[in-house]
Amino acid sequence: MLTLQLNIFTLKIRDPKKDNKFKNMYKIPLFNLSFDKREKDAISRTLDSKWISTGPECNKFEKLFSEKLNTDFSLTTSSCTASLHMALIALGINDGDEVLVPSLTFSATANVIKYVGAKPIFCDIKSLQDLTIDPKEIENKITNKTKAIIVMHYAGFSSDMDNIVSLAKKNKLFIIEDAAHAPMSEYKGKKLGTIGDVGTFSFFSNKNIAIGEGGMVVTNNKEIYDNLKLLRSHGMTSLSYERFKGHANRYDIQSLGYNYRMDDIRASIGIVQLNKLEKDLSKRSELRKYYIKKLSKQDKIIIPFKTNNSYVSNYIFPIILNNNQLKRDEIRDKLGEKGIQTSVHYPAVHRFSIYENDYVELSKTDFVTDNEITLPMYYSLGFKDIDYITNSLNEIIG
Ligand SMILES: *Cc1c(COP(=O)(O)O)cnc(C)c1O
Repeated sequence: MLTLQLNIFTLKIRDPKKDNKFKNMYKIPLFNLSFDKREKDAISRTLDSKWISTGPECNKFEKLFSEKLNTDFSLTTSSCTASLHMALIALGINDGDEVLVPSLTFSATANVIKYVGAKPIFCDIKSLQDLTIDPKEIENKITNKTKAIIVMHYAGFSSDMDNIVSLAKKNKLFIIEDAAHAPMSEYKGKKLGTIGDVGTFSFFSNKNIAIGEGGMVVTNNKEIYDNLKLLRSHGMTSLSYERFKGHANRYDIQSLGYNYRMDDIRASIGIVQLNKLEKDLSKRSELRKYYIKKLSKQDKIIIPFKTNNSYVSNYIFPIILNNNQLKRDEIRDKLGEKGIQTSVHYPAVHRFSIYENDYVELSKTDFVTDNEITLPMYYSLGFKDIDYITNSLNEIIG
């Protein structure tokens, strides 16, 4: 009882302006939001407009996204997970079908395959230098049940799209690009997410574009787009905003849909964040170069994609300890004690309990899962912060 009262007391005397929940936990967090007055103004304007659900701000966000990515159709959604789910349905993936997917990804990339009753076939990554799905694995694992490939552009670095597209063409497979890490990233001049049949993006609060929760799904195919639009909103043939505006006064339900919509409040934040994205990307690219310079003499780590010079989002900065003698979790703990927050991207999906029946041996994925450390990366990270992080790391691993 006494401690409870003390806690309430301490809560009360905190200055609310300084009371950022996470601020004091780490000197250098893994990620930091890049918000200023523009996001706040956008929210206020949307509130003042009295229309807060899917409407004109979502339309504007979609139009701007299509322009920036040079794609025909963009649709705002409630999340990247929702986008991936709808993509599979729109492409007709069904019970008993097989979908090839990397295991070194966030679990949602594979979970959605189960949503539609299909089976995820896990593929290994190319190498410790290239953490994206290996086309040779894809080729070996194609069966007469395979319908699609989901690629994931790790940290914003492209999967091997030339080889993957040619395998897909040869075997009549669809390609879905999970581009959650990769807004505006490029592969041979093309924006990631626009190369396959459907591309999906996340605007979760730690992504390059952060709006809280939200996503986008893009395609160049009108039929797929129309299908996605129906799926996003209960299968209804008109949106409530269109009915409100008098452009439509009735609707039909032709197929089963969901509520996977974004609202205008989030979309208005998204527009501001998207307009800042080029700046965000160029700063992250500078930070990445500085990290690489500072770690160039460290021979106990591998820096994936080190020689890749494409235009890339650098959503995260991963390093891999190059031998099993170094204890990853101990090193992370020691970095934590120095006030540096780190993460692991990713615990391999094929090792989760729910995928017990889909388990396969993936030696390179396993090695990365057990030896990868993600270091801080965000717009406001300073070069001095990187000095501190890399000096700390060198001190810890010797
Ligand atoms: C964040 C993320 C997702 C999920 O995005 P949500 O918008 O949170 O649903 C999917 N795939 C990858 C690779 C991600 O990083």
